Amino acid sequence: MQLVDGYFAKYAHSTFPLTPGHEIAGEIDRVDDLVTKGGRFNEGDLVVVVGGWGDGTCRLCQKGDTHICVHGRWPGFGPYGGYSEYLPVPEK
Ligand SMILES: [Zn+2]
Repeated sequence: MQLVDGYFAKYAHSTFPLTPGHEIAGEIDRVDDLVTKGGRFNEGDLVVVVGGWGDGTCRLCQKGDTHICVHGRWPGFGPYGGYSEYLPVPEK
């Protein structure tokens, strides 16, 4: 498995425990402080989770290239991944 073998080491800082899965689709189970109350997402909505959660502050993020932010995070390279039953996901 490439993830365990360190193939992505130069792209992501994997931490353990690790739950794989970075291409994610699912249903919103609960809306909490990661999502704007009364916003566009509601419990029960079907969603696709786009990885590459940038820091939002660098030049790349400001251009919309959050997927290549050097401080970005990807689900599936740490404790939360697509194979989890539940996954906290920021709204943006
Ligand atoms: Zn950034």
